[in-house]
Amino acid sequence: MFESLSDRLSGVFDRLTKQGALSEDDVKTALREVRVALLEADVSLPVARSFVKSVQDKATGQEVTKSVTPGQQVVKIVHDELVKVLTGEGEPGYLKIDNPPAPILMVGLQGGGKTTTTAKLAKRLKEVNGKRVLMASLDVNRPAAMEQLAILGRQIGVDTLPIVPGQKPVDIAKRAKQQAAMGGYDVYMLDTAGRLSIDEALMAEVEAVRDVANPRETLLVVDGLTGQDAVNTAENFDERIGITGVILTRMDGDGRGGAALSMRAVTGKPIKYVGLGEKLDAIEEFHPERIAGRILG
Ligand code: GDP
Repeated sequence: MFESLSDRLSGVFDRLTKQGALSEDDVKTALREVRVALLEADVSLPVARSFVKSVQDKATGQEVTKSVTPGQQVVKIVHDELVKVLTGEGEPGYLKIDNPPAPILMVGLQGGGKTTTTAKLAKRLKEVNGKRVLMASLDVNRPAAMEQLAILGRQIGVDTLPIVPGQKPVDIAKRAKQQAAMGGYDVYMLDTAGRLSIDEALMAEVEAVRDVANPRETLLVVDGLTGQDAVNTAENFDERIGITGVILTRMDGDGRGGAALSMRAVTGKPIKYVGLGEKLDAIEEFHPERIAGRILG
């Protein structure tokens, strides 16, 4: 679908005179290609610009080693810089779920994959980390969503909090907390309600739940294919609720994953997991190198 960045850069350098070191002009020409490739991969313009600038400083004047072409050398510099930005300042990628029962608050817009991801993560915590997990749906306006979580719970063998019609989200959160403590659970996950867009009612509701649960982790689930919208959603949720990490879903799709770079650069929040399909084991920890490779194509 796209010409890969590696191919493009080789083309650029074929047109340039061979020199012993990367000249400023060579690098500038190459970085124009890098910028276009980043934009095609759905990285936002300001992020692409500042990224290219930092690569420019690193690449200019570098000796071209014999074993690689100048194009490959710039690709490597770009790759390493992508990994650096995506990795961030060394926040732990793992979840802080000591001191049982640890509350995890799942937030996000409707359709982003929040309920599915709650179940995926619960399954992982159970099977990989050996944790006893309780899930609770707080989506009181959509009984089908509450039922969906119960069905997923049965599929993966994870308990869900019994549905009590008429309860408010904060009351459900309190009940989940109580049941998690009494039942000896390690983790309880609160699947909050989503809306089609961010509104005051949604934020006030999630905020009230957060204050009751005092979550150890607040994970924003967003569709990784929505690019800048995903980043805006993250900024909004972080400002109002305070998030500890992001889970990007639909990374199995056609997109080049540029949202990950914008997300990391703009919000400064770690991407903890990526969703890779509809199946309940289609989730993995975030690997910066994989996304970097994908952005480069
Ligand atoms: P919610 O409204 O945010 O709770 O969204 P759901 O969990 O109901 O998910 C909406 C749709 O997206 C469902 O059909 C899911 O199967 C699908 N979905 C969720 N995560 C992924 C993912 O990582 N990849 C793909 N391809 N589909 C996903």
